[in-house]
Amino acid sequence: MEENVCVVTRKKGSPLLRIARLLFVLIGITGIFGGISLAALQNNVFMAVLVLGVSIVCIGLAFVRLAQVTCPKCQSTATVHTFTADFECRACLTPTVIKWEKE
Ligand SMILES: [Zn+2]
Repeated sequence: MEENVCVVTRKKGSPLLRIARLLFVLIGITGIFGGISLAALQNNVFMAVLVLGVSIVCIGLAFVRLAQVTCPKCQSTATVHTFTADFECRACLTPTVIKWEKE
């Protein structure tokens, strides 16, 4: 089967976005330590898992980048994130490989 390749430029974020990202990482790291100490000191596993989960989501959000891609075949647009290796176009169902390129 023929494969489409879509090159997406990884844009540099604005300073505000970078600060937000840094904050998310800090919250995430603090949360991970907080979660571990909750489990270790207070034996509160439920809260610990909850805090750890939120922290991991925060760190994930800090690194994820969204981009608009255009299907090479039917020109319809789709939103992808950095963890997308390839996607299937919803309009023409063509599998498209995403290649991330640095700006
Ligand atoms: Zn398409």
